[in-house]
Amino acid sequence: MTKDIATPARTKEILKKYGFSFKKSLGQNFLIDTNVLHRIVDHAEVGEETGVIEIGPGIGALTEQLAKRAKKVVAFEIDQRLLPILSDTLASCTNVKIIHEDVLKANVRQVIEEEFKDCKEVMVVANLPYYVTTPIIMKLLEDQLPLKGIVVMLQKEVADRIAATASTKEYGSLSIAIQYYTEAKTVMTVPKTVFIPQPNVDSAVIRLLKRDKPAAEMQNEDFFFELMRASFAQRRKTLMNNILQQYPVGKAIKEELEQQLNDAGIDPRRRGESLTIEEFAKASDVLYPLLKTK
Ligand code: SAM
Repeated sequence: MTKDIATPARTKEILKKYGFSFKKSLGQNFLIDTNVLHRIVDHAEVGEETGVIEIGPGIGALTEQLAKRAKKVVAFEIDQRLLPILSDTLASCTNVKIIHEDVLKANVRQVIEEEFKDCKEVMVVANLPYYVTTPIIMKLLEDQLPLKGIVVMLQKEVADRIAATASTKEYGSLSIAIQYYTEAKTVMTVPKTVFIPQPNVDSAVIRLLKRDKPAAEMQNEDFFFELMRASFAQRRKTLMNNILQQYPVGKAIKEELEQQLNDAGIDPRRRGESLTIEEFAKASDVLYPLLKTK
C-alpha cells in the first residue's frame, strides 16, 4: 500500500515529480498532517452513506481520507495543472470524481442531484482557499442546497467571526448571515506548521450544521438583512443612529421608530452588536412598515 499523501515526504515527492509550483493567488496551502485530516473527517461524521463535496482537492490529501469513509466524493478544482496529479494520486480511489471548475460558478445543486442519488446525506468538507472562504460558504447557504452541513478549514479570525455570539467584538453581519442558516461551532484550531507552504495566518476548522428552518422568522427577509447590515455600519454608534444614517427620516417618523422599538422590548440606544438574531427579526418586523412603505 502507498503511503498517505499528507506526509511531508510524500507531498514533496509528488510536487517534485510534477514540477508543481504553488499559486498564492489560488490559496494553495496543502495539508501535510494525516492526524489533522482524520480529525476533520471525524468532525464531519462522514460514513458509508455520506456523499461528500470537496472544494479544492489540491493533490488529494483530504480527498483520499474522505474517500476511505464516504460513499462518494465529488471535488471541484479550479487549477488545471492539478488534474493529472490527482488522477495519479487518487488512482485507487474509485469513489472519487473530480470536476474542473470554479466552485463559485458551478451548478452545485445539479451536481448534488446527479451524483448523490443513492446517498443518505451530503456534507461539504474542505480545506478552503482562504481568498474566497466567505463567498463560498455564503453561496452554499444562500442557494438553499440540500446539505446536512459544512465542515471546513479556514482562517481562525474568520471562524471566530462566524461562530461569535452577540455582544462580543467578533460578532457582526457575518455571524448573523451564517447562523441564520446553521448552528456554527469552531471544532479545532490548527497551527501553521501542518501546511506547505505555511499560510500567514492561524487556521481553524468550523462545523456548520444546517437548521431545519432559519433561526428566526420575519415578514420580509430582505429587509431583515438590510436592517441588520445597516445596524453594524458603524459599530460604535447606537442602533437608532445607524438606522437614521441608512434611512434618513423626519422627526415624527424618528419618534415613531423609537416608540416601536421600545414597544418590541429593544432599547434604541443599544448598539447593533448587542442584538440577537431574534431581536433583529423583531426589529425588522416593527420597522418595516415605517421605513419601507412610507
Ligand atoms: N485540499 C487540499 C489540501 O488540503 O491539501 C488543498 C487545499 S488548498 C488550501 C485550496 C485548493 O482550492 C487549491 O487546490 C486551489 O487550487 C483550489 N481552489 C482555489 N480556488 C478555487 C475555486 N474557486 N474553485 C475550486 N477550487 C479552488
